[in-house]
Amino acid sequence: MRDVVIVGSGCAGNTAAIYAARANLKPLVVQGHEAGGQLSLTTLVENFPGFPEGINGPDLIANMKKQAENFGAEFLHGSLLEADLSKRPFRLNVEDEWIETRTLIVASGASARWLGLPSEQQLIGRGVSSCATCDGFFHRGRKIMVIGGGDSAMEEANFLSRFGSEVTVVHRREQFRASKIMLDRARNNPKIKFLTNTAVMEVLDPANNLVSGVRLRNTETGAIWEQEVDGFFVAIGHIPNTAVFKGQIDTDADGYILSKGGAKTNIPGVFHAGDIFASGPRGWFHIRRRPRTGRPGDQPDVVRRYQTRNPHRAEQRQAHSGRLRRKHGRRGEVLGIPARRERLCRHERSVRRILRRSKTSSDYG
Ligand code: NAP
Repeated sequence: MRDVVIVGSGCAGNTAAIYAARANLKPLVVQGHEAGGQLSLTTLVENFPGFPEGINGPDLIANMKKQAENFGAEFLHGSLLEADLSKRPFRLNVEDEWIETRTLIVASGASARWLGLPSEQQLIGRGVSSCATCDGFFHRGRKIMVIGGGDSAMEEANFLSRFGSEVTVVHRREQFRASKIMLDRARNNPKIKFLTNTAVMEVLDPANNLVSGVRLRNTETGAIWEQEVDGFFVAIGHIPNTAVFKGQIDTDADGYILSKGGAKTNIPGVFHAGDIFASGPRGWFHIRRRPRTGRPGDQPDVVRRYQTRNPHRAEQRQAHSGRLRRKHGRRGEVLGIPARRERLCRHERSVRRILRRSKTSSDYG
């Protein structure tokens, strides 16, 4: 039986592994079908603290893994196929082998979102891709199209401009979601052109099993036309990898985990880490921008606190603190007393003080 199993080996999974291993919890990391997460699919990471010249995503993730291993974390190849979180210990089916664990950290991140066109799906790996780093090289001197209006689309377009003869960014609206710096960089790139208010109707040509063009539609005028392209890159965001926990861990409509405060989920002993939870902007880059949980080591601390308690008490406490939080605000849980009552006490004290002072001054007045 394991103390902690971490599902996911991206930035969040590795961070959790480092802290859990240092807490002597000997974590097991289930790497998942995209080992290393999305960092392993990117090129130069310029905004991770401590690397003034930037660092390649795969190198960064390899360093994190090595760091976790140095403290005793174990890594397991394979994906989580099934999870039974209804009783303790929790049971996890990893590639048809059942693992039991006292606690679980879900750090399974998110996978690329697709447009969902049948032609797009048919041509994945034949000119359609969601990974410029993996497939950009195959489009040297060719015409490339990138779909999306966020930072990912700008990053992909800039990267692909090294290879392609031209890169066209197609976005469904006039306004971009991308940050100014990323958008400006793409706009200043002479190889990149923009097509806004444009939707993709079909990727051509599924009959030939090869991307040769796209059918586009102007969303304002309704005009439809075809354009020649060889590489079609989709960069329209991500979908959280929580399907395996469906019906057990509470999620929002998009599948992102609903946090119960800190790193807690609705199941005591199951925690979330990284981009998997439903709050604020999404994307693995936020691990680099600002840790979701406030402190990088939050999950293992919580795991340890949870484990040192009687599990039954832990459940009761969590339910109780949930009730307090709903009734009295967030501090109720931390202080163990209703925050509103505490505020009232403080308020009452200061009112009394003011009354005392005013009484004293009026006495002198
Ligand atoms: P995103 O910010 O959610 O942008 C997704 C884009 O795809 C949006 O422009 C959206 O259009 C479009 N889109 C979504 N569904 C679509 C569909 N079905 N058809 C056509 N277009 C569709 O996702 P992201 O670009 O992957 O970025 C995720 C997070 O990571 C962001 O917070 C971003 O800042 C961050 N990031 C940072 C860096 C960096 O700092 N180096 C690099 C990449 C990403 P609408 O705008 O119309 O919704």
